[in-house]
Amino acid sequence: MKIELAESYGFCFGVKRAIKIAEENKNSTTYGPLIHNANEIERLKSDFNVALSENLESFKSGDTAVIRTHGIPKEELAILHERKVNVIDATCPYVTKPQQICEEMSGQGYDILIFGDELHPEIKGVKSYAMERAYVVNSADEVDALVLREKVAVVAQTTRRIEDYQRIIGKLMISHKEVRVFNTICNATFENQDAVRKIAKEADVMIVIGGKNSSNTKQLYSIALDGCMNSYHIESDEDLKPEWFEKKNYCGISAGASTPDWIIQAVIERIKVLSNS
Ligand code: SF4
Repeated sequence: MKIELAESYGFCFGVKRAIKIAEENKNSTTYGPLIHNANEIERLKSDFNVALSENLESFKSGDTAVIRTHGIPKEELAILHERKVNVIDATCPYVTKPQQICEEMSGQGYDILIFGDELHPEIKGVKSYAMERAYVVNSADEVDALVLREKVAVVAQTTRRIEDYQRIIGKLMISHKEVRVFNTICNATFENQDAVRKIAKEADVMIVIGGKNSSNTKQLYSIALDGCMNSYHIESDEDLKPEWFEKKNYCGISAGASTPDWIIQAVIERIKVLSNS
């Protein structure tokens, strides 16, 4: 069986940057998971003594808090600063951008529409930067239920599919006089998505590697499924099942933006064993 990686996959700029920042700040604590990959977080703990706390109250004056790639709500950042915690910001610059847009456009009197998952940390953070009247929708269908003022500014979660974002913008254009659209979907997402779309058309089995709670991995998996019905989302080589590779000739592989290379390599080695390649 031929095993091939997508042309673009895995760690993006923002995750590489955050890991470097964490490695440079030994003995620090990240507020929330630095990235959506439990294995990498474990490695940072064992090799660099970078701990993880989900509890804002646990940070005291003089502690070093590393802010996760997805960012945190504005109010929580203010609390850390007030407490004189040494704040090291590893928020991805592509996430900082929609935060700034929300703050600025909201200040100019625009209603803010955010396309994303309301419960995702990135969106909780982004929304917190709007002063008022910020709404989150997960699909174009949800736009109909909103009562928005004439002037609307729109941003998207960095990992969303551009086609879905276009549908939302299309709806708003019909009903509103002024729609300011900001393309906040990040390039890493485009590149990995284009590459998985391409390889999934050819492959007869697709393996997408990444955390089950990783939004961009879920998107890659959904695109893989569009092109290849035998697509599987796994977190590590331990999730692989031998029957997936029976009578298959071409296995395509992609990985989410928080998936380290050592996990991808372990998956490839295991697939080789399972498929006798
Ligand atoms: S996927 Fe994009 S927005 Fe998210 S961390 Fe990576 S570079 Fe930043």
